[in-house]
Amino acid sequence: MSNEATPAGRLVLLGACADDNSSMLRGAAGAPPLIRAALFSGSSNLTSETGICLDGHPRMADRGDVGGEGAAAFVAIQNAVAEVAAAGDMPLVLGGDHAVTYPIVRALARCHGPLEILHFDAHPDLYDELDGNRFSHACPFARIMEEGFAKRLVQVGIRTLNAHQREQARRFGVEIHEMRSFDLASFEPDPSAPAYLSFDMDALDPAFAPGVSHFEPGGLSVRDVLTIVHRVRTPLVGADIVEYNPRRDVTGVTAMVAAKLVKEIGAVMLRNTPE
Ligand code: MN
Ligand code: MN
Repeated sequence: MSNEATPAGRLVLLGACADDNSSMLRGAAGAPPLIRAALFSGSSNLTSETGICLDGHPRMADRGDVGGEGAAAFVAIQNAVAEVAAAGDMPLVLGGDHAVTYPIVRALARCHGPLEILHFDAHPDLYDELDGNRFSHACPFARIMEEGFAKRLVQVGIRTLNAHQREQARRFGVEIHEMRSFDLASFEPDPSAPAYLSFDMDALDPAFAPGVSHFEPGGLSVRDVLTIVHRVRTPLVGADIVEYNPRRDVTGVTAMVAAKLVKEIGAVMLRNTPE
């Protein structure tokens, strides 16, 4: 394991344009340019609620987009993330479907060692396989845990826990905060370094973010998510925002929610890793 990374890195946006591991609907591969467009649309300013402004920030960069189909997409994503991490920088990856988290985390764990992951999702994404695909967007955290890329996995927003995934969670020691009993007031995310944040847009209630492939009512509000994100004080070695599906969006509102999350998660990454 090489560790060229320095603690004070740049925040680097990276698009991961892949959705061929989606089990039901494609479309998420088209998300990254639309999230960037919403972020820079002038509809809002680029100052986050933390007070950190991303506009012209000296430690912000954009690596552009990578992606494609099948194994080649995973290789391209993993290589791009590895390059960012080796430079001592923090990738904020825009998906793509959730399958992209596996090559991202693989690259980061090889650079930094096993990660502690805070995962927002309606779904645990712990299937051993789905429809015969072990790299489905329903499986990334099974692969990550099997291969030892995470030392701890904490999930928030979960509301689709079936018997198979409950067994998988037990097998891997996953800490699941189910939506039905979630208490925002007492939830203090306290990941140890190296920490990673993975955000599936369907963690949000579809009332707030309709542009997702799988509507799962009864989710988090945008405000709930921002409260949790702002509470994270650990330096993050990377993060992703995945599963925005522009084909399902309504007037671009979900792109705006994703852009808001880029702003707030990005600001927390800069805040938690000071120069
Ligand atoms: Mn997911
Ligand atoms: Mn999901």
